[in-house]
Amino acid sequence: MQDENTLYGQNERQHSRKLVLTSDDKTTIQALKEVADKFSTKRDWAKFHNPKDLSIGIVTEGSELLAIFRFKTDKEVKQILGNQLMANQIKHELADVLFFILRFSQMTGTDLTEAFLEKMKLNEIRYPVDKSKGSNKKYTEL
Ligand SMILES: [Mg+2]
Repeated sequence: MQDENTLYGQNERQHSRKLVLTSDDKTTIQALKEVADKFSTKRDWAKFHNPKDLSIGIVTEGSELLAIFRFKTDKEVKQILGNQLMANQIKHELADVLFFILRFSQMTGTDLTEAFLEKMKLNEIRYPVDKSKGSNKKYTEL
């Protein structure tokens, strides 16, 4: 039986064919989209989830991630990553970015897998291995 205080109760996790919510290697993007949708629907947030505001959400949450590293040296970044509390904060900011990406794609009917693979194919052309290997130059500078 589903616990009303959680998005998905243990029973649902175990028995749902589609909504396996355990780890990256077992969870589909679709299942995560459904989590984001359920969370948003319960709060009547769809009315706020237009492309402009969801794009703002992606960037502002990305900025919260950036802020963690602002003015930090390489040594300090290593210390941050090794600190459990900070590592958790980073993980949560990544999740916030992901929420907005999932929600944007959901509200606009964008298939993220298709979009990602399409873009990677384009990147294969933009960044041929023989020209880009070991280089951090943008494709326009190769
Ligand atoms: Mg955040």
